[in-house]
Amino acid sequence: EKDPRIARISSAIRVIPNFPKPGIMFQDITTLLLDTKAFKDTIDLFVERYKDKNISVVAGVEARGFIFGPPIAIAIGAKFVPMRKPNKLPGEVISEEYSLEYGTDKMEMHVGAVEPGERALVIDDLIATGGTLCAAIKLLERVGVDVVECACVIELPELKGRERLGNKPLFVLVDGA
Ligand code: AMP
Repeated sequence: EKDPRIARISSAIRVIPNFPKPGIMFQDITTLLLDTKAFKDTIDLFVERYKDKNISVVAGVEARGFIFGPPIAIAIGAKFVPMRKPNKLPGEVISEEYSLEYGTDKMEMHVGAVEPGERALVIDDLIATGGTLCAAIKLLERVGVDVVECACVIELPELKGRERLGNKPLFVLVDGA
């Protein structure tokens, strides 16, 4: 019942144990980008899901949401909005603080990039605890955008990020090893 393209995508993702620190199984999508068929299949699967959903904004989370977001945005006729780390965007921004394992981080978006009532998809490569996607959702909702769904290539289900998103739909292609 699973799409046959999923297996190839899953095996194209390299897992590097103990990076960037002991105990982390790092899901490395750079090897997926080297597999021309698996990379295209990844984009196609998202495009097939979102092409007829009236989405006008694809919001990509720095940094790996910048790899998957733009080809999807072009294919579905939406604009691409980067959700960036602090002090990267040159214009006026709104920002949202969120908690990490140790300490906090911030995410920023340009004022005027989106308008109230627009329908957005939020994309990143991976959901772990869900903190990053939550911050992106909050930024968009603060300016009146309707976040239709979040999408990731990989989910680490043990970390229960899906629960942290509450009732916000989450679509993923594969579970992390
Ligand atoms: P979280 O906010 O906990 O859901 O973490 C998600 C963010 O951290 C994403 O932007 C991921 O790229 C990155 N990340 C977290 N854990 C991993 C992992 N095991 N492998 C690769 N990236 C990860």
